Amino acid sequence: MFTLAIIKPDAVGAGKTGQILAHLEQAGFKIRAARLVRLSTVQAEAFYEVHRARPFYRPLVRFMTSGPGLALALERDNAVAHLRVVIGATDPAEAQPGTVRQLYAESKERNAIHAADSPENAAREIAFFFPERELRELAAPGAS
Ligand code: ATP
Ligand code: MG
Repeated sequence: MFTLAIIKPDAVGAGKTGQILAHLEQAGFKIRAARLVRLSTVQAEAFYEVHRARPFYRPLVRFMTSGPGLALALERDNAVAHLRVVIGATDPAEAQPGTVRQLYAESKERNAIHAADSPENAAREIAFFFPERELRELAAPGAS
């Protein structure tokens, strides 16, 4: 199955993209699509719509539009749940040792990576970033 990740602008800007991609590949994820994206304010607002009422929403939208991020369609068994484990808790101070956020995040806001939190959201987010691709096209021949 597939999930959607974004290496966030803090990590791309700090030159951590390659290390994070290596971490994801070592965790068994296959990169099926990738796109460097500079989100517009309208796109970032839509992407984090669920948090619109939260006090961190405006700073979050500013952060996510502050520079390019790398959107990734990733494939692995149990991809959605497994990626959430691999990235760690939202706040790097609370993330387990060896998780992407514990290793590479700066703060609870500037936390290096986004991962879809359900199969439904993964499908919606993959369509958001890779609208021209059908999911079956992303899969390599023989991939489960
Ligand atoms: P993401 O959705 O980016 O994968 P998440 O699911 O771990 O992260 P959410 O609760 O969905 O966490 O929050 C979305 C993003 O908003 C966080 O990743 C972080 O960048 C920011 N954020 C969340 N809570 C806070 C907070 N209390 N203060 C500042 N930023 C926050
Ligand atoms: Mg989330």
